[in-house]
Amino acid sequence: MGRTAERTEWGGRRDLRFAIVGAGMAGILSAIRLKEAGLTDFTVYEKADRLGGTWRENTYPGLACDVPSHLYSYSFALTPELSRRYSPGGEIQGYLERVARDYEVDRHMRFGDEVACCELATGRWRLETAAGHRDEVDVVIAATGVLHHPRLPEIDGLDDFEGAMFHSSRWDHEVPLDGARIGIIGTGSTAVQIASALVDRAAKLSLFQRTAQWVLQQENPPYTRDDRAAFRQNPAQLTELHETLSHLFGVFANAIVDADSPEMEMIADACRANLEDNVRDPELRERLRPDYRAACKRLVVSPDFYEAIQRPNAELVTEGIERIESAGVRTREGRLHELDVLVLATGFKVDAFMRPMAVVGRDGQTLEHLWSARPNAYLSISIPGFPNFFMLNGPNGPVGNFSLIEVAELQMAYIMQLVERLRSGACREISATREAMEQFEAARVEAAKKTVWMTGCRSWYLDDRGIPATWPWSFDRFRAEMRAPEPTAFEYR
Ligand code: NAP
Repeated sequence: MGRTAERTEWGGRRDLRFAIVGAGMAGILSAIRLKEAGLTDFTVYEKADRLGGTWRENTYPGLACDVPSHLYSYSFALTPELSRRYSPGGEIQGYLERVARDYEVDRHMRFGDEVACCELATGRWRLETAAGHRDEVDVVIAATGVLHHPRLPEIDGLDDFEGAMFHSSRWDHEVPLDGARIGIIGTGSTAVQIASALVDRAAKLSLFQRTAQWVLQQENPPYTRDDRAAFRQNPAQLTELHETLSHLFGVFANAIVDADSPEMEMIADACRANLEDNVRDPELRERLRPDYRAACKRLVVSPDFYEAIQRPNAELVTEGIERIESAGVRTREGRLHELDVLVLATGFKVDAFMRPMAVVGRDGQTLEHLWSARPNAYLSISIPGFPNFFMLNGPNGPVGNFSLIEVAELQMAYIMQLVERLRSGACREISATREAMEQFEAARVEAAKKTVWMTGCRSWYLDDRGIPATWPWSFDRFRAEMRAPEPTAFEYR
């Protein structure tokens, strides 16, 4: 693993202490960037007993990243050792652990120590963890992730089921799967990966579909030993591949915000061709055909979902769930689907962010109160009245089908510029102004109306108003915006 990042010399004057909340992909990144800048007085607080965030929490069969792994890697820590184009989850977890070790940031991590409260007092943040540990820091970086509070479905009788039942992100590996009758509720990216992985192990696999999905077929070829040797010998090839993939995803990300772009039509055509070419039974094909536009919901990427759902032991159940009973799932037309295992692949509460951590900013203002309608932040990074408190992958940031690592890297480079102002002594407190946040939010909501996410579907992108809680402009614009903070958007004290 090479260290190709340029190191920056920071001629700082002020000692700063940092708390990073969360030791997932973004927390590890924050720690590395602080350390590279010579800012070594920091602790990474992690509630779990291991780093890795989403890749630690999700261990379901079939777990993989549907962003090509050479893009879903830190740009400064590309690795030649990947097994496939889309790495399995365990490989990504191993990668994150290795990077944290290589960059020696793992020693800054406190595991099993959840930050319960974070309060601004005389210009510094006072932290208290659930275990009672206290800390006082100048800067907080909340790297707490988006998709990590499981959402259980509101279905009658959920507690009546007598088989094994768990949410996809809380997989119970003690439960036998071979020869079992397995039910999966949901048809998102998670459910599709689980269904493909389990169909050949289950006696019967029932997939309970409320809404059909557009599925983009992507092959997942292995990297051969020769491929890996070539990457090892010529690291420039890795950088090139990372850049090419970043460019391709950029094109996709640029297209997705414009519902009527030709690229959007190409994506829709590719999904339609997958359905037409790969689903033989016309009746099943119609039940799998979505009645909304491709990419309105988060696009599902799979090499083999249609193949899996056409296996003789697989059933796509579209009748709608009436209730859960002790023996299985009863659908609306009265049929009982008897099951041994029920997987709730029903997604996440995406508006929690760092909550339930209590955050108290200037003048006793609480984040809970500020976000009581919905979460909001300037450029998803900074909140007025919460100085020196920065977020990675915060509210309304880019969360579409791209690499959240790339997003976090750009955001962290931006945050480091704000940190440098603090460090140089130019000011002691920085937060976005209320006007900047309000203007940003108004423009964002307006732009969101043109995106494909608002063309008529239900998805986790949409907030309580039906507005996509995401970055509605091109990825190029995001990159440009992250280049340098706009001075007038911030209040400096
Ligand atoms: P999701 O996309 O939110 O999907 C949840 C599924 O559960 C939907 O099909 C939903 O149906 C269904 N559902 C929820 N409540 C239900 C109910 N009461 N009755 C019946 N069905 C119900 O969640 P996810 O699949 O876990 O994926 C979340 C996100 O994680 C993805 O969009 C993606 O960003 C990320 N992810 C990424 C990868 C990757 O490879 N990079 C893999 C997995 C997940 P409706 O569609 O009708 O609402």
